Amino acid sequence: MRNFLRVISGEKPAKDVSEVSLFGPGIGECIVIHLGADKWFVIDSCRCPSTKKPIAIKYLEELGVEVSTQVEGILITHWHKDHIDGAFDLVNECNSAQIYFSAALLKKEAIRLSKLYKKDPFASTDTEIREFGQIIEYLRSREEYSRANPVQASHTICQKTTPLKIRLLALSPSPQAVTQSTANLFELIPNVGDSRNRHVIGQSENLNAVVMYFEFGPFSAIFGSDLEETGNPNTGWSAIINSGMQETLSLEPAELFKVPHHGSANGHNDYVWSLLLDNKPLAITTPFYRGRGLPTEQDIERIRGLASEFWVSRKSRAPKSSKRDRMVEREMDSVARGRSVIKNKIGHIQVRADREGSLKIRGNEQAVKYTA
Ligand SMILES: [Zn+2]
Repeated sequence: MRNFLRVISGEKPAKDVSEVSLFGPGIGECIVIHLGADKWFVIDSCRCPSTKKPIAIKYLEELGVEVSTQVEGILITHWHKDHIDGAFDLVNECNSAQIYFSAALLKKEAIRLSKLYKKDPFASTDTEIREFGQIIEYLRSREEYSRANPVQASHTICQKTTPLKIRLLALSPSPQAVTQSTANLFELIPNVGDSRNRHVIGQSENLNAVVMYFEFGPFSAIFGSDLEETGNPNTGWSAIINSGMQETLSLEPAELFKVPHHGSANGHNDYVWSLLLDNKPLAITTPFYRGRGLPTEQDIERIRGLASEFWVSRKSRAPKSSKRDRMVEREMDSVARGRSVIKNKIGHIQVRADREGSLKIRGNEQAVKYTA
């Protein structure tokens, strides 16, 4: 049974009710998960546009959750700015949580690279790499480095069998993706005397992204992060399909899908929809505002045809008219930017599943729902 509502619940879910809350963009994306029994898990981070607090902290405190004891884990799926903004504050406040990183990020290449960006004179650039460096430095200085855990495909983060079967495990990155990313990171380390690059973290980091599978009794979900198709059978979504993990890990087809890479076509793989997901699952994603914006009209068409409902946490930017004069366009852009600062409220989709598997889906006023 599915039930769609327009108002987010401000009540804490019962101990035997799971929750998946998707926020974004703030800039970026964050998923807050109730693992049952007042234990919580956070995937990625973005900030509340008005208070600048990590949105996960703001939301959990509003629910009455004690973040320092009840957040069991934080996963940074990859270190793009739209997934790591505010993660240092999150780690700082959720001080009993285990911290999970995509495996390549805990290799010495990534750590070395992050140290070079510690005192960056260009404050507005490379925040992702400095945010990451800050977390590593903080854990080291407090001798809590053992809280940092590398994650790759088939790594189980949590598993319980009573009173309900509850699992949280990783479907990516593949071992090949970790090797390839580590080699890429090594290439980025500047030689002595080289001028340092800004915006050093390239698009290729999506190769590293951690996809998660969550099971809570009869309910299951896949969180696709920004994982893309790469054209290589041993990396990206193909690696998940080719690994046979759905059999070896006895994965039930998921009912909820956080569509990867903000709905972009480069994150699409037909087999994911036919093998890993229910027929017509509930699809959710966050938009991405840089460039032409994601999801595009075509992305929305594609996904609404595959899903029972497709929810986007906020509207993606309307496509620009190609005929419009550039000057006018630029002016309209700046007006729109000014407006969006005023109306800047983060989108929120809240999905709750009880132990019988019945779902309640809620969205705040920013969330947009597309039906088939
Ligand atoms: Zn992203």
